[in-house]
Amino acid sequence: MRAQPKASHFIDGAYIEDDAGAPITCIYPATGETLAELHEATPALVDKALAAAKRAGPEWAALSGTERGRILRRAADMMRDENRALSEIETLDTGKPLQETLVADATSGADALEYFGGLAATIAGETFRLPGGDWAYTTRDPLGVCVGIGAWNYPTQIACWKAAPALACGNTMVFKPSETTPLSALRVAEILKEAGLPDGVFNVLQGRGGVGASLVTDPRVAKVSLTGSVPTGQKVYAAAAEGLRHVTMELGGKSPMIVFADADLDRAVSGAILGNFYSSGQVCSNGTRVFVERTCRDAFVDRLRERLKGVVMGDPLDEATNYGPMVSEAQMNIVLGYIEKGVAEGATLAHGGRRANRDGFFVEPTVFTGVTDDMTIAKEEIFGPVLSVLDFDSEDEVIRRANDTPFGLAAGVFTDDIRRAHRVAAAFRAGTCYINHYNAAPVEMPFGGSKMSGVGRENSLAAIEHYTERKTVYVGMGDVEAPF
Ligand code: NDP
Repeated sequence: MRAQPKASHFIDGAYIEDDAGAPITCIYPATGETLAELHEATPALVDKALAAAKRAGPEWAALSGTERGRILRRAADMMRDENRALSEIETLDTGKPLQETLVADATSGADALEYFGGLAATIAGETFRLPGGDWAYTTRDPLGVCVGIGAWNYPTQIACWKAAPALACGNTMVFKPSETTPLSALRVAEILKEAGLPDGVFNVLQGRGGVGASLVTDPRVAKVSLTGSVPTGQKVYAAAAEGLRHVTMELGGKSPMIVFADADLDRAVSGAILGNFYSSGQVCSNGTRVFVERTCRDAFVDRLRERLKGVVMGDPLDEATNYGPMVSEAQMNIVLGYIEKGVAEGATLAHGGRRANRDGFFVEPTVFTGVTDDMTIAKEEIFGPVLSVLDFDSEDEVIRRANDTPFGLAAGVFTDDIRRAHRVAAAFRAGTCYINHYNAAPVEMPFGGSKMSGVGRENSLAAIEHYTERKTVYVGMGDVEAPF
């Protein structure tokens, strides 16, 4: 099976290769087969991409919002028309089942292009009347060259969530996908070009962390948007601070999901499945600490185990498969290591817990019960299909424990008591909260983390704030009074 792109990088409107870059082997996680051989960007290519983005900026920013938006919306339509082919690339790149990628990846990327394409013409400033007939106005100016750096779980979506608002606001971008999933951003770049995007406005460079790091500190760069882990976020934020660059940091989490005994248990179980096993658990906002009120814990766990019989593990390209492998052998070993730790620290393995007996990097959906707050599996982000059930007895207690984490990406509550639902949502210290649902991230809604889980928000009108800066112009209409 091969998915070799025309070349490793897409710079200034064209594919480009430089064999001098260190090799990157792209693996199909379901079988371990090699899909493609690429190269990291050399310093010369990093320079070429940034120079192209810098050069293309003024002309792109000078277009009207309507003109920029039209190109983005055309790209959205093209992505939808090509959804199946894009989904297949995403499935090969990540191992996520086609059943998922057909509805969650290129489609959500297209949503972002359509949404921000539609907004582009509305980006405007304000006016202020001031004493003496003076007045002031603001314009919302693009920041300039933005760097996007992506994680491997949603490569198409991440490329679009970053490119769409950046480009709508008149910025240009150099995007570095994760080296684990290098394929789909290249096709996004091609589609944008075919939709009419001028050369140099969106560029894709492959590479490991070092390539990302060299982009972040380049003096031509005005903003960095990273989706990745907290340790990487700390490094990138610190490096960006050197040049006082703007940042958006979409980082990891260890989010709580609270199930009260008065909740519709089937709905809560569905939420727990979505929030732990979709994309084989490789979702940043997953509600991996599932606090279940003690009086309904056994019923909840029984129903969850029953529903897990519906897992269809198999060839991700088969649309009947609803559960895929981990993205890489390394990630599989990390997850298996956490499962071992859970057992060693005294949690009860209620379901799964092993590498599946088949080719590829599959880990069974895993449920631990009897988990306590001090266990490693309750404290650290696992980024795999490991759900921990923690018991609780009262609302005050569970809110305190839910918030007792350095992370703050997401949080969820399942209850049929409307007052309790809003009380708990208000008490959560997390950027994105759910009542009787989990993990939906429509483009209309701001998405991002509190505390160590991030800075800034993606999607929604909020993203416009993060890709523009206000320029204020004071207009004097009368005499200028001076003391001497
Ligand atoms: P990493 O933090 O390992 O990597 C993220 C990206 O940063 C990769 O492209 C990586 O390159 C690059 N990178 C690594 N070091 C540096 C550096 N010093 N300077 C610049 N770039 C660097 O995350 P993963 O790819 O392993 O993704 C999983 C993590 O992402 C999880 O913690 C998850 O929670 C988080 N995440 C957050 C989301 C959110 O929206 N909040 C959504 C999805 C994931 P490479 O890996 O190629 O070496």
